[in-house]
Amino acid sequence: MERLFSPTAFQGQVVLVTGGAQGIGLAIVEAFAKLGGLVIVADLQRQKAQQVATSLTEQGYHVDAESCDCSVQQQIRALVTKIEREYHRLDIVVHNAAYFPLTEFMQIDEPLLQKTLSVNLMAPFYLTQAAQPLMKKQGGGRILITSSVTGPKVAYPGLAHYAASKAGVNGFIKAAALELAPFGITVNGVEPGMIRTPAMANLGDEQLNQSIARNVPLGRLGEGQDIAAAMVFLASPVASYITGQTIVVDGGALLPETTI
Ligand code: NAD
Repeated sequence: MERLFSPTAFQGQVVLVTGGAQGIGLAIVEAFAKLGGLVIVADLQRQKAQQVATSLTEQGYHVDAESCDCSVQQQIRALVTKIEREYHRLDIVVHNAAYFPLTEFMQIDEPLLQKTLSVNLMAPFYLTQAAQPLMKKQGGGRILITSSVTGPKVAYPGLAHYAASKAGVNGFIKAAALELAPFGITVNGVEPGMIRTPAMANLGDEQLNQSIARNVPLGRLGEGQDIAAAMVFLASPVASYITGQTIVVDGGALLPETTI
């Protein structure tokens, strides 16, 4: 990314990343920080988020940490108010946090469904509503969401709740993009395939990873940086005419018509 974009590409821009303490979110935080952005990591894991901020700050980048449960509208409002007070702007919001415990279909109960929908689908509404006045005042902004191929394109056993939330997110992206376009705010998403993260590690061991990789046409699992690269592209000026879209980043995993 540093080869494609200047290290000052996002200088002066304030970037909020939810779920940035580990996995894909951490890669997104690092990417924007290394391209000059002032990045705020908002995560449930306060200590881990703080460690990310401290480590990147020691390397000379501008990263702050905030503790936030982004399924709670009041916490998101308070977070955005604090960002406005301290940094006076908010240019890019990346909603990356998600909740996805593997649960057999008949075991999905109301609290699980409620929590999944709150973190994955309702939080983008809360974040976008909170950020819109500031972005509008600035003359524009970028809303980016980590969606998934699971739901919009394919299914995975034990993830019906998650699939429904991610399919919903893609609907949100289109609807919000249409309504926010007059304010110069674009809304886009990235649909990752199988990406190597701490959450993925919960699905299985290295042997499972290798068998998944064998079925990916590009021959490997994705890395957080693969998703971060797509996010950076969508946030950059070259993507200023793209809105309401999602990019699949899966190493070609969805391409085969049949699995032989
Ligand atoms: P992860 O579990 O490793 O990291 C998620 C982060 O979000 C954690 O730091 C966690 O503390 C934080 N978080 C969870 N709930 C939160 C809340 N309510 N408020 C604030 N922070 C919260 O997950 P990951 O694999 O890095 O996934 C990141 C995103 O990518 C998710 O949106 C996920 O749906 C999507 N995704 C991942 C994969 C994959 O293969 N890993 C595939 C498709 C989509």
